[in-house]
Formats: sequence, C-alpha cells, structure tokens
Amino acid sequence: MQFEVIAKCHTTRARVSRMKLSHGVTMLPTFMPVATQAAIKGLTPQQVESLGVTLMLNNTYHMNLRPGIKVLDDAGGAHRFQGWTRNLLTDSGGFQLVSLSKFTKITEEGALFASPFTGEPTMLTPEESISIQHSIGADIIMQLDDVVSSLTTGPRVGEAMERSVRWLDRCIDYHERSGKKDRHNLFAIVQGGLDHDLRDICLDEMIKRKDRVAGYAIGGLSGGEEKDTFWRIMKQCADKLPEDRPRYSMGIGFAEDLLVCVALGVDMADCVFPTRTARFGVALTFSGPLNLKLAKHAKDLAPIDTQCPCPTCSDGVSRALLHHIITQETAGAHAVTQHNITFQARLMGQARDAIINGTFPDYLRSFFVAYFGDVGYPEWAVNALRSVGVDLLDGISKDVNVVPGDGGKWEYSDRS
Ligand SMILES: [Zn+2]
Repeated sequence: MQFEVIAKCHTTRARVSRMKLSHGVTMLPTFMPVATQAAIKGLTPQQVESLGVTLMLNNTYHMNLRPGIKVLDDAGGAHRFQGWTRNLLTDSGGFQLVSLSKFTKITEEGALFASPFTGEPTMLTPEESISIQHSIGADIIMQLDDVVSSLTTGPRVGEAMERSVRWLDRCIDYHERSGKKDRHNLFAIVQGGLDHDLRDICLDEMIKRKDRVAGYAIGGLSGGEEKDTFWRIMKQCADKLPEDRPRYSMGIGFAEDLLVCVALGVDMADCVFPTRTARFGVALTFSGPLNLKLAKHAKDLAPIDTQCPCPTCSDGVSRALLHHIITQETAGAHAVTQHNITFQARLMGQARDAIINGTFPDYLRSFFVAYFGDVGYPEWAVNALRSVGVDLLDGISKDVNVVPGDGGKWEYSDRS
C-alpha cells in the first residue's frame, strides 16, 4: 500500500489522501458500499464500477460459508469470482459470528460458534480469519477482534479490548509468516467500548505495532450508543491514531455521521444502510432522505434529484414511477440502489474537493442547512463540529433549531 496525505483542512482535522493498492488508486475520504455475498444486492460489478466506486467490502463470514474457500481458491480469489477489478476490503468475520450465531463462545483460542447450516461447533481463530481473507484475496484485510456491543458494560469490555490486542499479535504473526504481506494490507481494530481509559490503553498498544500494520479501524461504535458519546470516542481515536496510516470508522453510513467523522479525521467508512434503505424505498438526497413509498410522490414526474448524475436520475426516471414499483418490482430497488450509491460517492467526493479547495467548513454549513434546515440540526453534530472549530450556526441566512437526538422529525420512521 502507498498512502499519502495530499491536502488538509485548515480548520478541522479533515484530510484528503491517495491510497494505492493492488487494484488501483482510491481517493480518501471514501464510503465503501457493502457487497455481503460477493455482490451488491441488485447490481452487477460493472454497474458498481461505473458509479465511480473504487473500493468495496465483502463479508468474510458469508464468503467462507458460501461459496466457500475451495471455490474461491479455484476461481483465483474473490476478485475473479465476482468479476470485480477494483479494490476490495474484507472484514474478519468476527462481527457476523457474534451477531448471527446464538451459540457463540469466545475463548482465548478463538470464537467457537455453531454452524448455521449444520449446527456443528466450528472455531474461528485469528490465524484462520487471516488465512480465509488471504484466500478471498482482499486488498485490505481486518484483524479478528473480540467485539462486544457498544451497550455492554462492566469487565467484559476491558477483557474484549485486551484480547483484541493479543489477537492482533497473532494475526500479525500469521500474516507475516504467510509471505503474503505485500499483497494484502492488514488493519488493526481499536476497541475499548465507550470507556475513555480503555480506548486509550488500546490505542497505545496498537500504535506500538504501527510498523507491522497498514492502517487502523475504529470498531465497537454505532451500535445504539448515545450520539454524544459516539463522536467523543471517535474523536479520541482519530486524534491519537498516526497521521501516516488510513483511519477507518466501521459501520457508519448516514450522511451527517460521515461528514462529522471526516471532520474528526476519519478517512474510510462502510455501512449497509444506503443500499438496504434503497430496497425499502428510501432515496438519499442533499435535502434529506425521500420516502418514495409516500402517496405524495404518486403524481410527481420529477426525478429523485435533477442534479444527480446516476443512471436513474439522468434517464429521468420519475418519483411517480419509483413510487409505483418500489418494493414491487426488482427494477425499483435496482434504480434506487444505483442512486443511493451515487449519492454517497457525491457526498464524499464533494467533501474531498472542499478540503482541497480550503472550503470544507463552508461545505459542512451548506450541507447541514440543506439537509436539516427545515427539521432542526442534531445537537450532537453541532457539538462535534464545534470541537474541531466549525460553528454550523455561523453565517447561515436561515434560523434553524438545534434539537436533541438524531435531528428533527424525518418524513419516515424507517432509517434501517
Ligand atoms: Zn440519482
């Protein structure tokens, strides 16, 4: 991996970097769509690439179960198997293992779980996770970590953090012995729950291993914790992580979360939200999400967003048609998925341009006024951006409310 910071915001901690991997250059900050089962639901890899995506995510847990390592090895890796020519990142498999299996037991050796197909006990060790990710052939691979929900409290949080450090060492040792270190770039995952001191210990330990890892992820957040706690922990981690390594916040996908994380110094993020919400009929726009299922769109012949370059909007597909077919015809999910992936790419692309042009604070203010101006700014985002020198309420011509929680009343209740 070649990683180079090419521009920094003068006010916030935001930065633009160039990350060169085996399958080309990815400019950061970037949002990575999630292709759980070796495909983004509803799209071909060629369509995903044509939307400007240069890095996407595959889930190790699912790829290991189906098609399985034998098929992937025979195919020459997941790139060839799914016809994807750009960069690929895999998670370690640990998160699904915990979230999907009712019978997971974490031991020092690894995570013991019941196979969802046969019920047989199966062990995923740090070494095996790395070995599977090597077979998948991802450009960026993740350590196996001991993940606990961000709502977990008590001694388990510290235990999981300490084990994640020990498992990082096992992942590094296996990865270096394998001789595949140059092809696959290993990222460490900072844990420690919502506890400032535990996060600090974890950061210190993982930064000691800097010369043996290519980048850092911030894990264990975005699991239902208070947003005010979320951004403070994110800031703590982003502030301390080394300048010359990419920083990846896991499981972040809402537009306002992404921009706050970028302002705090985060370079990469992933989430199933934009593609999942598309299938439920929600199109993401710069004036806030649009629930196409609502009756008010039934006669609206305008596209989702006249400025959007995605195939759906540029072909003039109307909100009325999408209202008519969404959740009925797969073509509807396909059309909105393409749009939402494009929205995420534009959001981050415009952020990169603004950082380079020295106008990122203005970009943040104009984004928030267009997105939240009518419903109220989320208080946590106002506070988070103040911590890096940007007052969202400064210099805008409109009176806006600051409201607790996620910010205002959305026109729909389904953000999942
Ligand atoms: Zn569009």
